[in-house]
Order: sequence, then structure tokens, then C-alpha cells
Amino acid sequence: MKHLLTDKELFILDMDGTFYLEDKPIDGALEFLDVLKKRGRRFLFFTNNSSKSISDYIKKLTDMGVEADENTIYSSGSVTIDYLKKNRKGSKVYLIGTPSLREGFVEKGIILTEENPDIVVLGFDTTIDYNKIFKGCTFIREGAEFIATHPDLNCPIKDGMMPDTGSFIRMFTASTGVKPIIMGKPFSYTVEAIESATGTSRDKMVFVGDRLETDIAIGVNNGATAVLVMTGATDKDILEASVIKPTFHVPSIASLINKV
Ligand SMILES: [Mg+2]
Repeated sequence: MKHLLTDKELFILDMDGTFYLEDKPIDGALEFLDVLKKRGRRFLFFTNNSSKSISDYIKKLTDMGVEADENTIYSSGSVTIDYLKKNRKGSKVYLIGTPSLREGFVEKGIILTEENPDIVVLGFDTTIDYNKIFKGCTFIREGAEFIATHPDLNCPIKDGMMPDTGSFIRMFTASTGVKPIIMGKPFSYTVEAIESATGTSRDKMVFVGDRLETDIAIGVNNGATAVLVMTGATDKDILEASVIKPTFHVPSIASLINKV
């Protein structure tokens, strides 16, 4: 059979458009997890959305019948925390993020401040206001480092799009002239954070997702495998027109049951 993944150890699954649509698992998604478990393989879920906390996702997945916990769900917020702890130990952070993200940072021991930060971290802040934008830009202009959790311009919702962190990055950069270091998919910090959290090397990882510029790019640009599913953001025309190509593509996550 073509494209077997039997030598891979860790499957990193995107959620929306890959594992579920809205609140409903994709047909065969739960069975795929069962097959992975039976065959002694591991999986984790990864989302670029840093507006929700890990416990929000644990609840959502548990309601769908998935056994999920802190060790099986990562977000771009988790990667940012990991990066700060490893590379910016003791730094004071001005965080532009939701109360959920703030809670996650505090729980993991990141020092947050409203005055004279070393770093401004920009997350997907659905509670952002002019004061936060003004303060963030001022701190960056005065020399604070600029880090953003992920690059997505928009976040797909039921009937359209919400402006996401990538759009806000452009505003901050337009005002300050400073470009951020960006975490999350498709950047290598995410692969490094997963390697250190799981002990699995990247050549044994498979990224599964519906978006070429994040889910697929992270795999093919960083020495991992990347499988595109056609149940979300990408159709045949988009795939053909894109310069980013997956290792291979399948109709849905259920198509992987016979390949692992
Ligand atoms: Mg997706």
C-alpha cells in the first residue's frame, strides 16, 4: 500500500477541519485514535489558537469521547511558554491575551507585568482594547522584544472569519517598525517544543492537518512528515495552486486507519 506510516511514532493532529468540524468529530476520527492506541503509537492535538486555554480543549474533546489531558493537547500558547522558560528565563512579560491565556502563563511561572517589560507577547486576544494596543506598541518602541504566539491572519468560525493574531501583528509592526519572533505552526519552535515535551525526534513525527501554510508547512519545512486532509480549509484547486505540498494527501483522517 502506498504511503505507509508504520515507522512513525507520534501523530500531531490539528483539531478544527481535521479531527472535528465545529462540535462533531469527523467520521472515523475516534476510530483512528483507537487504532493508534492499539498499535502502540502516540498522538497529541495541536492548535494555533491561543485564545482558549488547554482546559477548554480538554473539555471539548472529552465531550466528544476522546480521552484527553494536559499531556495530549498543545497550543501556540504552550509553545510560547516553553520558549520563554528555555530562552528568556526570568524575563518580565507584558501579555496581550485573553484571561485564559493569562492564567496559563501565570500557572507555568511566567512573570507578567504592566510596567517596563522585557518582552511584549501578543496572543489571540479577543478582549483586546485600545489601551492594550497603545501600551504594547509603546513598550516595543522603547526596546521590549516582540513575540507573537502564531501567524494566522483569520480564525475560521461557523459563518465566516474572525481577525486573528496575524492581522494584529501587522498593525503592531506598522506602528513600531518591529517584526516579532513568531511561535506556533509552521515555525520550528513548535517542533522543538514537541520534541522536548515528548522525547520523540522529528523524523518520527507526522503532522496531520487541513491548512497548507501552517499544518503542512511545519512538517515539510522541519524534517517531519505532513499529511493533508481534505475535510477543512483546503480543496483540490487550492492544493494544486500552492507551492506548499504535503508528503501526501488523503480524503479524511479516517483514510489513515489503514496506513499506521
Ligand atoms: Mg484546521
